[in-house]
Amino acid sequence: MELQKEITKLQNYDTLTNTLNLSGFFLIVSERLKEIKTPALLALIDIRDFTSINKTFGLNVGDFLLKEVADRLNLVFPDGIVARVASDEFAIYKELNSKDKVETELVKFMDKIKSVFEQPIYFGDNILTLTFNAGITVVSSESKNLESIYENISIALAYAKKGVENIIEVFSKDLEEKVKRTSFAKRLIEKAINENLFTLFYQPFFNCKTLKLEGFEALVRIKDKDGTIYTPNVFIDVLENSKFLVEYEKWLLNEIMDKSKKWNIPISFNASSNSFKNQEYINYLSSLDNKISLIMEITERVLMKEPEKTIDILNKIKKTTALKIAVDDFGTEYSSLKYIKDFSIDEIKIDISFTREIVENKKTQALVKTIITLAKDLGMETLAEGVEKQEQLEILRDLGCDYVQGFLLGKPLPEEEAEKLLSRNLLS
Ligand code: C2E
Ligand code: CA
Ligand code: CA
Repeated sequence: MELQKEITKLQNYDTLTNTLNLSGFFLIVSERLKEIKTPALLALIDIRDFTSINKTFGLNVGDFLLKEVADRLNLVFPDGIVARVASDEFAIYKELNSKDKVETELVKFMDKIKSVFEQPIYFGDNILTLTFNAGITVVSSESKNLESIYENISIALAYAKKGVENIIEVFSKDLEEKVKRTSFAKRLIEKAINENLFTLFYQPFFNCKTLKLEGFEALVRIKDKDGTIYTPNVFIDVLENSKFLVEYEKWLLNEIMDKSKKWNIPISFNASSNSFKNQEYINYLSSLDNKISLIMEITERVLMKEPEKTIDILNKIKKTTALKIAVDDFGTEYSSLKYIKDFSIDEIKIDISFTREIVENKKTQALVKTIITLAKDLGMETLAEGVEKQEQLEILRDLGCDYVQGFLLGKPLPEEEAEKLLSRNLLS
């Protein structure tokens, strides 16, 4: 009997810290969840860089630190259930009283977790302040399935770990959605790389006065084998932050060089914020055939983030390549009229939000007029994005805008259709 007890204990306890282990935590907390009528809070805490702490100070110190964290957690959560659920991860479960306000308790709960890590830990002649990340969820009286609750705090924790140290993320439906979208995008991108599913659509832009076709903007899509087409809003943020970005951008540049040569027309492309600052990418740009007419679009946001640095990069690009440079989404950021003169820029793409309002809103119209005049004075050209209506086109023409792009005159087209449009324009 004693032996059996001892075995059960070993299975459910972490002997190092004298707290429950993962299976013990599940056992006890799922029992509690069956009974309670009030909400509860659940946290999963991960100590940051614990592997390197172990490496630097040795396993004995590592063990000591874990014990210290467990003791402190027990101290600040006397009425909670504390467990060490993985080598450097702790979980806490705390039930609320019926009169507690959940929001208030949640803040207290978070403050207590922070307080555990705020105080440095002394050992030998050393002193160390541990850092952490945590995911938290509120367990309502309806959600009783510990597995799915645990999944939720894992999601919140994973999200917190992406940020800086000592961040606590509270699980929410929004967060779950966000994480789902991101992991969907990751899978989609990997598949697209492996099966060559990236494809470019080409949206024409025209001379605002003569409506002559002047070029195309290359816009990426992922085209699945079943015919489904994914637009960039589904995956571009993830792609721009993935290890596949360089490979993708090289593919893109090669594609549009081929097309621009074959079609004998300028093609613009969207440079991502990450590659724009990447030396390898800049070098790659300077190796491109400089007889081909390409336009690199950089969003105003990227431009304005570190203006001084960007001025240098753009100067270098202008010196070593034949690329034209356009500022994309102009007018959407706190700007830039002061700075714009210092950038080596050839074209300003006036954001769709201006075009949308240009007919009804006289102030917007005045702004666009100013942008166009300013650009002219600085020797830059202007293109208005998102032209959907005839009236918009006419106003832009009267204001002296150089180019227009938008659904009124042409949607983004697959390669073959762009080619047809091109030959029609050559005939006319
Ligand atoms: P963007 O550069 O501002 O591209 C214009 C977007 O507006 C395109 O959406 C286009 O389909 C849409 N658009 C064009 N005319 C109209 C119009 O008249 N009305 C409306 N409502 N929309 C119009 P898309 O193709 O979904 O691209 C979205 C964004 O994805 C692009 O915005 C660009 O920032 C990014 N992107 C696209 N391709 C690439 C790429 O190869 N690399 C990178 N880094 N980003 C890309
Ligand atoms: Ca663009
Ligand atoms: Ca744009």
